[in-house]
Amino acid sequence: MTARILDGNALAAQVREDIAQQAAALIAQGVQPCLAVILVGDNPASAVYVRNKVAACEKAGFRSLKFDYPADVSPEVVLAKIDELNRDPLVHGILVQLPLPKQFNEEEVLEAISPAKDVDGFHAENFGLLLQGRKSFYPCTPWGVMKMLEVGGVSLKGAEAVVIGRSNIVGKPMAVMLLSQGATVTVCHSQTRDLAFHTKRADIVVAAVGKPKFVTGDMIKPGATVIDVGINRLPDGKLCGDVDFESAKEVAGLITPVPGGVGPMTITMLLSNTLESARRAAAHFQSTP
Ligand code: NDP
Repeated sequence: MTARILDGNALAAQVREDIAQQAAALIAQGVQPCLAVILVGDNPASAVYVRNKVAACEKAGFRSLKFDYPADVSPEVVLAKIDELNRDPLVHGILVQLPLPKQFNEEEVLEAISPAKDVDGFHAENFGLLLQGRKSFYPCTPWGVMKMLEVGGVSLKGAEAVVIGRSNIVGKPMAVMLLSQGATVTVCHSQTRDLAFHTKRADIVVAAVGKPKFVTGDMIKPGATVIDVGINRLPDGKLCGDVDFESAKEVAGLITPVPGGVGPMTITMLLSNTLESARRAAAHFQSTP
C-alpha cells in the first residue's frame, strides 16, 4: 500500500489566495493588515523563516515591518519595541522569532505581546482560551495541521490520535485541538516507555519531536494518517521530517511530506491570524464613535 500524500504547498496556495482576497476587501475599507516581525541575532534558520513570513505577507497584500537586533541586544530594548508596537493601531500582529539568545527570558518576551496582537498564539491568555475551547489566536503549526486533516477528509470523532512531543508551541496545543474535535488523544514524550506501542494503535500520528526520520513504517498502523511536523537539516544540507517518509508511506493511508507539508501551512495560518486581528481592529474602529 502506498499512502496518499497531503500536499501542504497546494493547500497553502489555495488558502493564501482566499486570504489575499479578504485582505483586499479590508484594504478597500481603509485597513491594511500589518504584521511586525522581530528578529534577534543571526541564526540562519530564523533568518530564513522571517524572510518567508515577510514575503508571504507582501504576497497577500499585507504590510510587514521587520526589526533586526544584534545577538547581544539588551532585552529591555526589545521589550520597549514590543510595547511601542502594542500601542500602534496600524499594527495588527506582532511576532518574535524564536529561539532568542541566552540573555532573554522567552516567556517574559512572549507575555509582553498584547494578546490581541499575539498572532503566533503563544501568549498564556490565548493558550488558556484554547484549553477552554473558546475563541483565541490558535498556534499556527497545530492549527495548520487541523486544516490539513480537514481537507484530507480525516475523521477525528472517536479516532485514536497520538501526538509525539509536548512542547507549548506544537505538541500540547495539537493535543488540545484534536481533543476538542472528538479524538481520543495520547501525548508521548521523551519519558514515554514504549512509544511504538502507542503509535501502532493510532489512527492518526502527529510527530513533533525534532529528530530526523524518528518514526518508522514499522511503528505505524496500516492505513493510519501520519502528520510530520518536524523540520530537520541533514548533514548533506537536505531537509527531512521526524518521520522516515520512505518506510512510512508504504504503511500509512495518508501522509504529509517534508518539505512541502506542514511548513507552508504554518505561515498560512499566521496570515490568517493577522487578517483576523486586522478585521477585529476594523470592526472596533467602525463601532467607535
Ligand atoms: P521541542 O524540542 O520543543 O519538543 C520536542 C518534543 O519531542 C519534546 O516534548 C520531547 O519530549 C519530545 N521527544 C524528544 N525525544 C523523544 C523521544 N525519544 N520519544 C518521544 N518524544 C521525544 O520541539 P518543537 O515542538 O518546537 O518542534 C518539534 C519539531 O517540529 C522540530 O523538528 C521543529 O523544527 C519542528 N517545527 C516545525 C514547524 C513547522 O512549521 N513545520 C513549526 C515548529 C516546529 P520532552 O518534553 O520529554 O523533552
